[in-house]
Amino acid sequence: MDFSFTSEQKMLRNTIRQFAEKEITPLIEEAEAKHQFPKEILPKMGKVGLLGVSFPAEYGGSGDENVSIRKINECIVLEEMSRVCAGISFGVQTAAVGAPNYILRDFGSEDQKQKYLVPSIKGEKIGAFSLTEPDAGSDAANIKTTAVKEGDFYVLNGTKIFCSGGNIADYITVAAYTDKEKGIKGGMSVIIVEKGTPGFTVGQKFMKLGHRSAENVELIFEDCRVPQENIVGEEGGGWPLLMSALNESRISDSARAVGVAQAAYEAALTYAKERNQFGKPIGQFQAVGFKLARMRMLLDAARTLTHRAAWHLGQKKDVRLEISTARLFAAEMVSSVTI
Ligand SMILES: Cc1cc2nc3c(=O)[nH]c(=O)nc-3n(C[C@H](O)[C@H](O)[C@H](O)COP(=O)(O)OP(=O)(O)OC[C@H]3O[C@@H](n4cnc5c(N)ncnc54)[C@H](O)[C@@H]3O)c2cc1C
Repeated sequence: MDFSFTSEQKMLRNTIRQFAEKEITPLIEEAEAKHQFPKEILPKMGKVGLLGVSFPAEYGGSGDENVSIRKINECIVLEEMSRVCAGISFGVQTAAVGAPNYILRDFGSEDQKQKYLVPSIKGEKIGAFSLTEPDAGSDAANIKTTAVKEGDFYVLNGTKIFCSGGNIADYITVAAYTDKEKGIKGGMSVIIVEKGTPGFTVGQKFMKLGHRSAENVELIFEDCRVPQENIVGEEGGGWPLLMSALNESRISDSARAVGVAQAAYEAALTYAKERNQFGKPIGQFQAVGFKLARMRMLLDAARTLTHRAAWHLGQKKDVRLEISTARLFAAEMVSSVTI
């Protein structure tokens, strides 16, 4: 078992670190103050290939054929961006390196991949993913949105909340019941809704305490007619697609938590070396040294669990336990390290 990065992964980490420090840092203050994702970052990332690490070369990506390596590489990108700005990193994840494009990559038709995935990897189109509703958060099977077949169209009705980037997205993978009676076993579908489709409007924007530079909105569908070719996979086969994308996204969430904690650790370490009291840097007092050691220990453990989850993702077995373990630990770790 080898825990070290390959030379390609070291190069990827250096590239994204330099990119994030140079290109993302100047955008943070305004984006956080205005609760606005700076979408101009996407074509810049696309140009240097940083949106493509999770996607196959035939669609313009640079994703390794080995799913484990591909996912670890994506964790490197998301961690390094989050080290600079958690919100912008999250915005990039939801727009391009995340759930909507995982669904298209793994289950989309060739036409859908060409139409949405290819431009998204270049940073020219923005994606979003919409499952959550007012009465369906953890209980995602309880969504009320329906998509009724009428001729060559599906007619969507319902209200979604917490859709990340839904106000700036060109396309959204939306979960809806095509047959409510069948429930998640054959009744839920994923349908792509494009910006500007009649009957689709963006509702209120949710103002958050953190991650302010990633936007979250309500979506409203009122007799929204979507062409039947926008269904992803089979009608009624949406639940496994959604769960697969969420599962993979949870590893990305862990990587972002690690990036935030890494930034906190580096800042604390620098301060402990610079700040002098009683004639020496405070880092030389054992109480401060213990704190720093604890931060570093938790950080290393979370990163290892995250990369282990990414490795498991490629092993073609049920990996929910490994993924949930990493995500829970990383979430608790980042709270502990940053306070
Ligand atoms: C910043 C942000 C971005 C988001 N982006 C998106 C997006 O792009 N697309 C999208 O579709 N959704 C998005 N979401 C929604 C997210 O997926 C939901 O918040 C999540 O599913 C939880 O739902 P909820 O907030 O309604 O909490 P609830 O489901 O109401 O849960 C509240 C509490 O109850 C606990 N709980 C619930 N059920 C159980 C249970 N069975 N056992 C034990 N405890 C339980 C939960 O752990 C939690 O502590 C986003 C949310 C946030 C905060």
